[in-house]
Amino acid sequence: MAEKHQIPENAGNSKNKIIYSIVVAILSVIALISGQYSTQHTQETPEDPVSQVPVSDAEFQVHVIDVGQGDSILISADGQTMLIDAAESSASEKIINYLSAQGITELNYAVATHMHADHIGGFPKVFAAVKPKTMLEPVYQDSLIPTTKTYEKYLDAVEATGADYQALKTGDSFTLGNAQITVLAPVSEHASSLNNTSLVLRVQYDDIICIFTGDMETPEEKTILNTVDNAQLKATFLKAGHHGSDTSSGEAFLEQVRPEYVAISCGVDNKYGHPAQSTLEHLAAYTDQVYITAQQGDLVFLYDKDTKSCKMLTNGKG
Ligand SMILES: [Zn+2]
Repeated sequence: MAEKHQIPENAGNSKNKIIYSIVVAILSVIALISGQYSTQHTQETPEDPVSQVPVSDAEFQVHVIDVGQGDSILISADGQTMLIDAAESSASEKIINYLSAQGITELNYAVATHMHADHIGGFPKVFAAVKPKTMLEPVYQDSLIPTTKTYEKYLDAVEATGADYQALKTGDSFTLGNAQITVLAPVSEHASSLNNTSLVLRVQYDDIICIFTGDMETPEEKTILNTVDNAQLKATFLKAGHHGSDTSSGEAFLEQVRPEYVAISCGVDNKYGHPAQSTLEHLAAYTDQVYITAQQGDLVFLYDKDTKSCKMLTNGKG
């Protein structure tokens, strides 16, 4: 630019001045256009999701990660960690970044609630970055074992971690920090659909109870109601079953759970119409604290043991 600026001045004739003016005009237009493009590019780049993740030192935390259509939920209790599901493969980078932002380099537990791609698809890449010490699955019958590539990759990835492996059913229990975790379902391996094999966990920490449901539908809810002491089902926090579908969160189950906080994990404009309006209406009978990842982004439920208080944070997507 500087050299071109001097050539016409030195030449001193009108023809060169015209050429000079045209060159300057063209360069100005190019500069303007490239400036607009770079401005547009900056505006279109999504904000760094990691910087939006609330990091907290609360003793007990539940992070319902915004993974689009699928589930991935991080629980932290006294510094011990459990990842329930890892959504689709396409969400694995988001999950890895999320765990990294929380300073997590190893998981005490990873849980595959059931063997559908929107729950286990992300595990292979996540496990390449963050390994679990123990892998938990539900018991289920051999006839339901998937034949999908996603499932094969999942199996290979679990094996490569060297994690202990346990298949759980109703009545099994374990601890995460000071959290007591009991398995509400599956009752047996006899569930007739993969959704209803979902590993359903009741997590008690100090004064609060959280229930995680995978994609449990009403048949499995009924099995729980018929098997488990219903007084055990009252919960502070509920991860609504099956992305808020109308196949789940039946009234009989909700009547026992009576949740104060509800999280629904689903994608924006998903093709299944999750969450169902009828489910939202059923939930509204119990609480106005219903949070949806598609609308509010990452959902973070925190419990402070000293003040015995709960709160839900969101990353402000909406
Ligand atoms: Zn699902």
